[in-house]
Amino acid sequence: MIIDGKGLAETIKGELKLEVDAIRERGGNIPHLAAVLVGDNPASASYVRNKVRFCEGAGFESTLIRKDSSITEEELLEIIADLNENEDVDGFIVQLPLPEHIDEDKVTMAIDPRKDVDGFHPVNFGKMAQGLDAFLPATPYGIMTMLQRYEIETSGKHCVVVGRSNIVGTPMSILLSRKAYPGNCTVTLTHSRTKDIASECLRADILIAAIGIPNFISADMVKEGAVVIDVGINRVEDDSRKSGYRLVGDVDYDSVYGKSSYITPVPKGVGPMTVTALMMNTLKAAKQK
Ligand code: NAD
Repeated sequence: MIIDGKGLAETIKGELKLEVDAIRERGGNIPHLAAVLVGDNPASASYVRNKVRFCEGAGFESTLIRKDSSITEEELLEIIADLNENEDVDGFIVQLPLPEHIDEDKVTMAIDPRKDVDGFHPVNFGKMAQGLDAFLPATPYGIMTMLQRYEIETSGKHCVVVGRSNIVGTPMSILLSRKAYPGNCTVTLTHSRTKDIASECLRADILIAAIGIPNFISADMVKEGAVVIDVGINRVEDDSRKSGYRLVGDVDYDSVYGKSSYITPVPKGVGPMTVTALMMNTLKAAKQK
């Protein structure tokens, strides 16, 4: 069965809009998301566009701050300080990656954890790890929402996560091992130094691929009936497309589809759910104020 991330995102957008309409009617605080986009990376620009568009659809307010890649680290930190102070902004994100001369960790640390709707700040990460209330990192939160809405059983399942980034693989492994639903999995976190990744993947009831290598997970790495979540978004050349490229995931979808019980497509799988999770966090931030 295909997990329709795009469709689910639309459904949740409608639910969020109803909530925002009710807030508006009673004269409450309309959620306001700001996004900072540095440079002209086309993928980043497209992600931010989707986020702003989602805001419009859900009745949120949004602000886009675009800066040239020549911006200094100090200038960017000043923008963040202003957003931290700005009473009108409930949550904000700084789209990654940033130009090389800017320290991403410094930027992440500068964001007020109460406005950190991407859930990247160590305060939110730490709270998440301890099962406390926090802004969950957007992509893992989107995946958790997918599992929950599709009522996929996770308790006692063996989950294998491929990739250990701070924003996807590592938090995903923590969330699925927590004592909760979705969760209660036995989790194996694999990465570039894992010895025999294929045999690790073959043990997975739930396989989550977040590496950034096109079609890395082939059918012979997937157990019959596994739930396969493909986080990868990779541009591969395709002369038949006007753009000259198409998007593929980290999973070889065509061969893996037949073996899986559930699978997310790329595009229209995890991507729209990441945006949705960001909006759920923004609404939460607005309510907490
Ligand atoms: P990253 O580059 O920060 O991390 C990649 C991870 O993969 C690393 O931990 C590395 O150890 C592991 N890895 C690399 N090569 C490997 C190999 N040969 N075998 C096993 N592990 C290997 O990437 P990221 O930010 O986590 O993103 C991963 C992918 O997910 C990218 O394609 C990215 O574009 C995509 N992504 C999608 C969304 C979404 O909303 N769908 C959000 C974030 C990232």
